[in-house]
Amino acid sequence: MKTLGPETIEQRLLALARLTQPGSLGVTRLLYTPAWHDAQALVYRWMEDAGLCPWWDAVGNVHGRVDGASETTILTGSHIDTVVNGGAYDGAYGVVGAIWALSHLKQRPFLRQSVEVVSFCEEEGSHFPITCWGSRALMGEVTPGDAKTICDPDGVSLRQAMDAHHLNADKISEAAKDYAAFVELHIEQGPWLEAQGKDIGVVTSIFGQERWTVRVKGVSRHAGTTALRDRHDALIAASRMVLAVQDVANSSEHIGIATVGELHVIGGSTNCVPGDVVFHVDLRAETDRVRQRLAGQLTHHFQQIAQSTGVTVAIEKNTDERMVKMDATLQNVIAGSCRSQGLSFMPIASRAGHDAQIIGRKIPTAMIFVPSHQGLSHHGEEYTAPEQLQRGVAVLLQTLEQLAQGLPGVGQDQSFATPNVLPGRWFG
Ligand SMILES: [Zn+2]
Repeated sequence: MKTLGPETIEQRLLALARLTQPGSLGVTRLLYTPAWHDAQALVYRWMEDAGLCPWWDAVGNVHGRVDGASETTILTGSHIDTVVNGGAYDGAYGVVGAIWALSHLKQRPFLRQSVEVVSFCEEEGSHFPITCWGSRALMGEVTPGDAKTICDPDGVSLRQAMDAHHLNADKISEAAKDYAAFVELHIEQGPWLEAQGKDIGVVTSIFGQERWTVRVKGVSRHAGTTALRDRHDALIAASRMVLAVQDVANSSEHIGIATVGELHVIGGSTNCVPGDVVFHVDLRAETDRVRQRLAGQLTHHFQQIAQSTGVTVAIEKNTDERMVKMDATLQNVIAGSCRSQGLSFMPIASRAGHDAQIIGRKIPTAMIFVPSHQGLSHHGEEYTAPEQLQRGVAVLLQTLEQLAQGLPGVGQDQSFATPNVLPGRWFG
């Protein structure tokens, strides 16, 4: 594999897209399922073909590597799992693109630092109720105990699912490694780059995010014989709470986004007043302060609605991820790569969560975005044109090459002198 044109990158994405759970709309590739295993095995083969000496780690991430003069390692890559009925580009692009970039670095006569590609086993949290299982393991943030207690909706634990793929949960800590920096290539998953006509987005930060499980308990009664005034209707209360979610996010003068994407009437039937409802809230904001303020307002509204409708409400927070800033020096290197290739670019905050959010808390991290057609993502029609895919991987290659040559200052929030790098802090 010497040179890959845009068609090849697209073809590889389409080859991965064929490895999906049968009958799904789009791509469904959930952690530790047969489709997931087939996809990681294909990625392994591609790394092998590129001479990257691949290996599986303790949780099922697949790595490949180009050794430099130093053990110091720059990491790149993304994730291989998808949401249910997802697209062919989310995550997979960052894996395929990184293999392409390393296949070129492999041909360089000398690299000061080593470069590694990782295909994270999981990011979405679509099978088990934890996001970024693979990158958390790499950062040493998960334990064998987590694998035992975290179960899918059928009651299968992560440990049991790992067993089925010959992965030993007792060895999870062996997945943890040290890296000097991480650069993740990804589709934008939103409409901004396309709307602005830009080739590349240089990510400035990743929104903080929390997820709640909200349980509303009323009283289930006969739908015909229970007067409206005597009801404690859990669904009426939950419906008002859903509207409150939208109102609170709308009323924020800062960027805050809140969504109810899942709601269940437990044991509901046509001729019963609903007694139990469970729904989930996804809350994100540009700063943690804004997110905490919105969370406080929502909690207040939920309690008021519960009181006025005669039900009880219990809120459980399942996820609480802080906003993470991307490294300023790495942003400068990416911007410089864009300039030297004559590509247009813009700073952009990521409203979607990524493995970079987990890794960026520990080491200097950056992300490169390419446009998503019509902003579609987590959808079977997710699409990025081949030439745009190629621009993104070219920027990744040049960025990795500069980092592998040991440019100083990464993680120290300062600029450094090369002709392709913008002076000073690129943006505040
Ligand atoms: Zn992704």
